[in-house]
Amino acid sequence: MKIALIAHDKKKNEIIELAKKYKDVLAKYELYATGTTGTLIMGETGLKIERMKSGPLGGDQQIGAMLANGELDLIIFLRDPLTAQPHEPDVSALLRLCDVQKIPLATNTSSATIILESLKDGKFFNIN
Ligand code: PGA
Repeated sequence: MKIALIAHDKKKNEIIELAKKYKDVLAKYELYATGTTGTLIMGETGLKIERMKSGPLGGDQQIGAMLANGELDLIIFLRDPLTAQPHEPDVSALLRLCDVQKIPLATNTSSATIILESLKDGKFFNIN
């Protein structure tokens, strides 16, 4: 199973805390991330993550391409809903593709926690 992790700048601390808390769960899977998010999580947790370009430089689109190719199973994308993003079209496109592909998507820590807890308990399954 392949998981993508992305966080906007003001959500970086939250995704680091989430990755620390669920490090043992995440370590069982193939992890992908946008550039800065991946670097920070690897530095803080030691998790092995394949990094794309930074989000504003095309990283979200690279994750989107993986989605379109059916190569991802879960996206945790902690969005900042209160700050305008220069790459908003890329963000929207990625969220849209999750729905096209029916890929589980968590956009805040509450939904991410529910999904990661279900992964921990072995209750997460792919409904596609
Ligand atoms: P970043 O990109 O991890 O490189 O900061 C995330 C984003 O803003 O989409």
